[in-house]
Amino acid sequence: METVEKKVNRTFICKLASSKRKDDLVWNTIDAWQEMADWFSDQAMSFQPSQWSNSRSNLVTKTLKRGFPDDNGIMAAHALQAGFKVMEAYDSWNSNGGPSDSHPSGQFGDASYMRFRGDHYELTANESGYGVKLKLRPYNHEWFRIDGGEHQNEYLARILDEDDPMAYGSAELHRQADGSLFLHISTKEKVPIVTPELDEIEHVVGVDLGERTIYAAGAISPLDGGWSEVSKEQPAIEPGREFRHHRDRLTDKRSQLQAAGDLQGVKACEDEHARYTDQVTHQASRAVIEYAEQFTPCVIVLEDLTDYRETARDPVHEWPFHQLKENIRYKANERGIPVAGIDPAGTSTTCHQCGTIDKAFRDRNDFECENCGLEYHADANAAFNIAKLWVLRSQHDDVSGINDCSMWI
Ligand SMILES: [Zn+2]
Repeated sequence: METVEKKVNRTFICKLASSKRKDDLVWNTIDAWQEMADWFSDQAMSFQPSQWSNSRSNLVTKTLKRGFPDDNGIMAAHALQAGFKVMEAYDSWNSNGGPSDSHPSGQFGDASYMRFRGDHYELTANESGYGVKLKLRPYNHEWFRIDGGEHQNEYLARILDEDDPMAYGSAELHRQADGSLFLHISTKEKVPIVTPELDEIEHVVGVDLGERTIYAAGAISPLDGGWSEVSKEQPAIEPGREFRHHRDRLTDKRSQLQAAGDLQGVKACEDEHARYTDQVTHQASRAVIEYAEQFTPCVIVLEDLTDYRETARDPVHEWPFHQLKENIRYKANERGIPVAGIDPAGTSTTCHQCGTIDKAFRDRNDFECENCGLEYHADANAAFNIAKLWVLRSQHDDVSGINDCSMWI
């Protein structure tokens, strides 16, 4: 087994409790920041290639001075972040081949967030919980209580623990359509990742995450000393019925409150949902780890949906895939269990026993193979396929091999 250190960048999202006065200040600052970014994004179109590679601070400061000689009420440090953010949007647009539907100049102005450099906000803790001081104006720190669940508090405790190597960087302050505020804090840490050889692993635990079933986990191990034939362990399954029911009830309640104009009630609904989601994802990730721990040395394989990014746009309706994956990864790494990701395409429509692929075999929770006669829980079937697929890919060096760290997450 080899252990490598991997730099892990993560963003976690905290809800902020605010007041009318603080809201006004924040909203004005965000609007001014966006106005600046919007104007700057139009200027950036005519920058020469050499300007992009030279000192960006000078370029941003000089350019903004032309458009906003009176500084627009924005602190110079925030203005700089606005320019950097725009230039980063151009960088990624260019590296994606400049698609016509996402020109950077259209991304600013109407958006509702601003970015803070790491030293322009400060996380705080006291007996009543966590908070954050945001430097919105010069010589002025506004304090906001963080309305966090177990998941957020775990991160915050780690950030504030001086012995913990996790560090925090910049943050984005987002205002939602209903006026509520969320802080997206980016963190950095070096995580030891164990990268075992296939012959050092005794079990591969496939995990299928979903809406119908929160998780289904299934472990396989090699038969006769090789992975060409495997035996399978009893799977673990957590139905999502209760979570869905809870979410649907809150969605209804929220739309009623929204129709009645009760914004506070809407907020309370979202808070309740966030706390409940936190609890569900924690319990589920703990259960997955407990299942895997029976089979060490093992590897946990998750569906890799790397393009998926959790947003705070609709906190009630979003399924917490990302949060669940993060929790599993974090808890597994703590216990020295490696976690890998694979593209899950086809894993829900393939029979794990005989390999026949047919969409018709799956009907909600049931999987019934017409070729070999297997009748199985559909998500547990997918979990075994995820495990098998990973073994298969690991045996082919031309595909992402087992020692290719990019697949270790
Ligand atoms: Zn079959």
